[in-house]
Amino acid sequence: MAEKKKYLYGPVPSRRLGRSLGVDIVPFKVCTLDCVYCQLGRTSQKSIERKDYVPVEAVLAELRERLAEGLEADFITISGSGEPTLHCRLGELIDGIKKISDIPVAVITNGTLLYREDVRADCAKADVVMPSLDAGDEEAFRKINRPHADISVERLIGGLCAFRDGFAGELALEVFFVEGLNTDAEQIGKIKDAISRIRPDKVQLNTAVRPTAEAGVERLDVEGLQAIAKELGQRCEIIADFRPQRCGRHIEGKAEEVSGSPASKMGALLSMLKRRPCSLNDICSGLGIGRNEALKYIAGFQQEGVIDSEEKDGIFFFKFKAN
Ligand code: SF4
Repeated sequence: MAEKKKYLYGPVPSRRLGRSLGVDIVPFKVCTLDCVYCQLGRTSQKSIERKDYVPVEAVLAELRERLAEGLEADFITISGSGEPTLHCRLGELIDGIKKISDIPVAVITNGTLLYREDVRADCAKADVVMPSLDAGDEEAFRKINRPHADISVERLIGGLCAFRDGFAGELALEVFFVEGLNTDAEQIGKIKDAISRIRPDKVQLNTAVRPTAEAGVERLDVEGLQAIAKELGQRCEIIADFRPQRCGRHIEGKAEEVSGSPASKMGALLSMLKRRPCSLNDICSGLGIGRNEALKYIAGFQQEGVIDSEEKDGIFFFKFKAN
């Protein structure tokens, strides 16, 4: 019998959202961007076309089951392994979630489609929206985010401003810094200007602490991020986690302890690695298992050629090998 498709993951404790239940609504690496720092690897389908990628009814049915089991979460977070605003029924999904649950809804997006009125209307149904802006001009945008040909940085900033104007919920803007690409004084100044136009409630600073799509993508050190936070002003906070215990930009934190058979733990491990490269510590704390058990599953998957490993700053990260 074919395995039932799962659209939900977690809840995971998230620094930004508390206990967050993730909802993944686009296929792996369908995105409007191809960021050099992406932890999921290169974008396989760069697109700006909104489509009915996964059946909203099936996502809601899975959520209904989780709620019936007594799900406890601070947020239901629409995010995942691609750009969620590419799903053309995003608004319908949020409406559906709100009909069956009182848990607030967050959308984590790269923000590039907010120039579209339909995308703004869909996202405005959420309680919290967390878009990104990593560049202050077109040259840096192309270098860091490698956008679809129809997306420009001005279009992105314009969309974010228009969304802010019509959105009463919380807007938390993430800025991801890559040493040497968007860290000079000129870029910081331009990003600061864009932030003052967008007027987010919060600005959250991140950097490449995990393996990235491109080799040679350098993280900023803590002192560098602190200096930028000071320059950008009071609404700034640093969300990069320099400790090797956490998974992800779009998916944060560690998962609940996975109970049950080795098969279910192996399934949970693969699901974790499909979303982010994880260190041995991440895997142990994420699945609530010991190092020996984790190493046994890792060795099995490595023998089958399903996962790979990569070293970054002295820590080994395990990654799912996409076909
Ligand atoms: S980091 Fe996010 S926005 Fe950038 S390519 Fe990866 S999935 Fe897309």
